[in-house]
Amino acid sequence: MIVNAECVGCGQCVVFCPSEAISVWGRASISDNCTRCGVCVPYCPLGAIREDEV
Ligand code: SF4
Ligand code: SF4
Repeated sequence: MIVNAECVGCGQCVVFCPSEAISVWGRASISDNCTRCGVCVPYCPLGAIREDEV
C-alpha cells in the first residue's frame, strides 16, 4: 500500500486498520504489518492511500 502526497496526516485511517500497521508523523506511513486488506482505503477523505503494484 502507498500513501501519496495528498495525505495531510489527519490520522483517520489509523483507527480503521485492523493490523495497526499505520502510523502518522506528519504523514501516514504503512509498516510491514500491513496485510493489504484494503480496509483503510475508503476511510481516507483525500483518497491518499492506494494499492501499489507488486
Ligand atoms: S491495507 Fe489493511 S492492513 Fe494495510 S494499512 Fe490498510 S487497513 Fe491496515
Ligand atoms: S486518512 Fe488519509 S489524509 Fe488522513 S492520515 Fe490517513 S492517509 Fe493521511
